[in-house]
Amino acid sequence: MKVLKFGGTSVGKPERMHSVSRIISEGKKNVVVLSAVSGTTNSLVAISEKALSGDKGEALKLTENLFVPFYYEFSDALLSTSEGKRKGKAIIDRHYSFVKQTIESANPFTERENKLLLAEGELISTELFQTYLQEQNFKSVLLPALDFMRIDENDEPDIAFIEQKLIPLLKQYESYDLYITQGYICRNAAGDVDNLKRGGSDYTATLIGAAIRAEEIQIWTDIDGMHNNDPRVVKKTFPIPELSFDEAAELAYFGAKILHPTCIRPAHERNIPVRLLNTMQPEQKGTVITHKPSERSVTAIAAKDNIIAIKIKSARMLLAYGFLRKIFEIFEKYKTPVDMITTSEVAVSLTIDDSKNLDAIVSELREFSSVEVDKNQTIICIVGSFDQDKNTAGKKAFSALENIPIRMISYGGSNHNISILISSEYKHDALNALNECLFSDVLVNI
Ligand code: ASP
Ligand code: MG
Repeated sequence: MKVLKFGGTSVGKPERMHSVSRIISEGKKNVVVLSAVSGTTNSLVAISEKALSGDKGEALKLTENLFVPFYYEFSDALLSTSEGKRKGKAIIDRHYSFVKQTIESANPFTERENKLLLAEGELISTELFQTYLQEQNFKSVLLPALDFMRIDENDEPDIAFIEQKLIPLLKQYESYDLYITQGYICRNAAGDVDNLKRGGSDYTATLIGAAIRAEEIQIWTDIDGMHNNDPRVVKKTFPIPELSFDEAAELAYFGAKILHPTCIRPAHERNIPVRLLNTMQPEQKGTVITHKPSERSVTAIAAKDNIIAIKIKSARMLLAYGFLRKIFEIFEKYKTPVDMITTSEVAVSLTIDDSKNLDAIVSELREFSSVEVDKNQTIICIVGSFDQDKNTAGKKAFSALENIPIRMISYGGSNHNISILISSEYKHDALNALNECLFSDVLVNI
């Protein structure tokens, strides 16, 4: 069995949903994970923000803008028989009133209602899609993600639970060919509706793939695979045919928008290939992610913005032990992950991208050191398999960046990553210079 996940733009128009139905009917037995129609989750976030701030009037207005006429027209164009159209309209009516009622009756509107609204996008897209599949006589069944996807007290997916619930469900519907389900949504440890954070549908797909030990997980988007560099910033980029799990995880974490950062882990743990494909050009090869190290020494470059660099300096660090522990305990206390770190004998520089608890962290650090904070930084991450490499990647990268002020370097943490911190104003120049220099052999053929 394979797991096929389709992102928001892949289901963003009725005719795209029609193409998806053709793609999924090619193999026998597929689990199909859908995102919300593109733009819907953003609208739901905006609706909830208004409702959370107490502005129910504006929340209701935004709700109307989301549903009318968009979803009625969408459903009408998706379905072709009068019976199908009637069912589609009933689905939209039901969700539209649910959102309105949730806002109107909440007193006050809390995080709980917020999560209920955020789940609506995937519930609508899958119900509409399943109605279309039934109209076309596909042997498909809708399996509600809320019945088997769960996160624990630490918001981590509970893979044992998912496995326990999902395998019997698939068995129960053994005679079906297609199992349709929602990405992103789940229940939390308390049993309430929750989600796997923005972009989490990829994670749903790899968790399901791992739970059922799928033959392959396919992530269908609107681009032809993972590119060697950020196509929004660099003109000449190309899709990477093969990547290792480690490389893909580094790239997804350090800015490649095509994949949710933690979604590689479940596939990696169970060694299930992940294929990135393009719904608009299904014949393109895309990118396949497996355990195999890539053949090139440098595979790709990614950039992550909105990074904060913190320099912690203390005379007491000199020849002292326990200093780093003291620092990291503070980050741990505020549940703030550290991305890059470099040290000298008297100072430590590190980066974070979550600024929520920055003030509290800095004030605790100041109790025993002097602290400098630089915002608007970018991490440039060069990914590859550097073990066989005689450091040529590093040398080339630094010569390409000779005109760019470098704030921090992290090299040797793993064999797959060289991270360089620069001020975000230099990102465009840095990515282009690195592209020219590290991929000149491929670029001549583009
Ligand atoms: N619909 C959710 C989002 O927009 C989840 C996803 O599409 O992956 O973030
Ligand atoms: Mg996505």
